[in-house]
Amino acid sequence: MSRVAYVNGRYLPHGRARVHIDDRAHNFADGVYEVILAVDGRMVDEEGHMVRLARSLRELDMPAPMSDRALRHIMHQTIARNRVKDGMVYLQVNRGTAPRNHVYDDGLTPTVVCTARSVALPRDADAAPGVKVVTRPDNRWERVDIKTVSLLPNALAKTAAAREGAYEAWLVDDGGFVTECSSSNAWIVDRDGRVVTRPLGVDILPGVTRDRVIALARKNGIAVVERPFSVGEALNAREAFLTSTTSFVKPVTQIDDTTIGNGHPGATTRALLSAYLDFTRRASVADAA
Ligand code: PMP
Repeated sequence: MSRVAYVNGRYLPHGRARVHIDDRAHNFADGVYEVILAVDGRMVDEEGHMVRLARSLRELDMPAPMSDRALRHIMHQTIARNRVKDGMVYLQVNRGTAPRNHVYDDGLTPTVVCTARSVALPRDADAAPGVKVVTRPDNRWERVDIKTVSLLPNALAKTAAAREGAYEAWLVDDGGFVTECSSSNAWIVDRDGRVVTRPLGVDILPGVTRDRVIALARKNGIAVVERPFSVGEALNAREAFLTSTTSFVKPVTQIDDTTIGNGHPGATTRALLSAYLDFTRRASVADAA
């Protein structure tokens, strides 16, 4: 079946979906986005993503393109029209189209794009393989808490990682502390079995999966500490993993040239992946009820 994309009020064949060359996202990366997991055709953590989208728009002085309800309707429609059961829905809102000028006018008509695609979900937490990551300097701007399409440093870092045979790049600040990854949040399990991840701030994206995993960990009696951790600490950690909408909870078994733990996905990581997968299935059932 051919894919369908929503662009500014119309559902078009994916290959013919276009935005204008004067769209400010093209010239200035002046747009924000969300990627939401779909399970059995229903969005997971829809609320968290909508709250983050509203925040991104607000922080960039962009008006909401339409009501929340209308945006959700477009995403549901895009999922349904693409016959996605398990997969992802992508929503992008740009400030609008205007002759190229750094200064933007208020009152531009926002560009809204939505796509969806199927992705196989992992079924078995215990079968999830560990991945290698490499560390790279975090050279992004100072407001990476806003989910903008300005992702060039992220793309360069992740491509460099891929060329080294790694799954992700772990980004490191000037003090030697891990901020997050190029497209996911970074975590370790310390020597006392506590799960550690960097606290929210302007220097990381507030991952919706991060929030969910913190809640699931606490519910399962796993202690969570939100504090910065250094590369050195990560290399000596019991376990490491990363989280995102598209990576779920992904065990990390190698950082640069160092093997983490015994080189296999750790028990805490597997427990969190299992809890997260259960949650996504339950969320889609609860939604249907
Ligand atoms: N950090 C960055 C830089 C990201 O791009 C992403 C994925 N969009 C995340 C973290 C994880 O966010 P989420 O769990 O909401 O997908």
